[in-house]
Amino acid sequence: MIIGVPKEIKNQEFRVGLTPAGIQSLVAQGHQVYVQSQAGVGSGFSDDFYTQVGAVILPDAKSVYEKSEMIVKVKEPLAQEFPLIQPGQILFTYFHFAASKELTQAMIASKAICIAYETVELPDKSLPLLIPMSEVAGRMAIQVGAYFLGKAQGGKGKMLGGVPGVKPANVVILGGGVVGTQAAKMAAGLGANVTIMDTNLARLRYLEDILPANVSTQYSTSLAIQDNLPQADLIVGAVLLHGAKAPHLIKKEDLKRMSPGTVLVDVAVDQGGCIETCRPTTHENPVFEIDGILHYCVANMPGAVPQTSTLALTQATLPYVQQIAKEGWNVACTHNQALANGLTIYEGKLQNPALAILFDL
Ligand code: NAD
Repeated sequence: MIIGVPKEIKNQEFRVGLTPAGIQSLVAQGHQVYVQSQAGVGSGFSDDFYTQVGAVILPDAKSVYEKSEMIVKVKEPLAQEFPLIQPGQILFTYFHFAASKELTQAMIASKAICIAYETVELPDKSLPLLIPMSEVAGRMAIQVGAYFLGKAQGGKGKMLGGVPGVKPANVVILGGGVVGTQAAKMAAGLGANVTIMDTNLARLRYLEDILPANVSTQYSTSLAIQDNLPQADLIVGAVLLHGAKAPHLIKKEDLKRMSPGTVLVDVAVDQGGCIETCRPTTHENPVFEIDGILHYCVANMPGAVPQTSTLALTQATLPYVQQIAKEGWNVACTHNQALANGLTIYEGKLQNPALAILFDL
């Protein structure tokens, strides 16, 4: 198959759809790969690096789209990219269709085959192409939280791990899924006193078994959360209700129960946030303060670390890219139900009933 990797054009997006290692494996399997010049530079991959593994560099997005049977990228196509997409072309990327009727209509009109990373779903209901970004965001939540606890940044002026003779800081994590678990591991590794809360008792049992002794698990109720607020130094919001907005587990009036300089990192902000006072922020301007409490609510946290995020994403997408390239999208979707779950639009037909209802299409 002929595969194309265009450069991402969304603001502040430095990830790329395939790494040189991924391309090397595709070329070894007999496929031809075109990469747009400078597509990988934000992730640390020069054009030369791609050429060395057998890719052909093309000067612009137009030529990549024109020559390729399958486009592998990271973010949803933007309006400037719509006219480049060819009928019958496979697009394998994050789409987040529910956020845009314009995008959904444009992809139906394009007659392309749209397989969305975020809806590739395994039989156990896990989302293998979203997990890597949750892992990045969970680990990052503690890095940024520790930084913003610094006095100069508006925080309390406290180190997560304390020092000999000085107690560590208290980290409270709401949600013990992928983000919450990775955050707990990082915070525990730095020596903090960590409490991780969830409503899923089986998950709490598992976390209790695998996490170190400086992590306590606690069943998440409103009262238990309230009880933790006065001692908390860093609170991480990592709750997800599948297909729904995040519940507001911390309300505006609860900020008064916290001590000044407490840091809130609401990773769930992309689903509306689990802290009522959160609103989406950007990497350029990541924090704001309300009632003396610092809020960090960046909606695309993995974008800050493209070298890590690109590797994490592409190691998860590559087996699917290889299967589509080998078998074609149609046969691959018959053999692999997870991939079929990601098939959202093909040849002008919308496959997802929820989207059809949402947008009246
Ligand atoms: P997940 O499904 O793995 O985990 C969510 C957890 O929340 C589950 O264990 C669930 O039982 C728990 N939960 C539900 N209700 C709860 C409650 N009332 N109290 C405590 N726990 C509760 O999801 P995830 O992959 O960890 O993602 C968490 C959130 O982070 C999602 O909204 C996701 O979109 C978001 N996210 C954001 C970024 C970013 O850049 N901001 C990046 C990746 C993921």
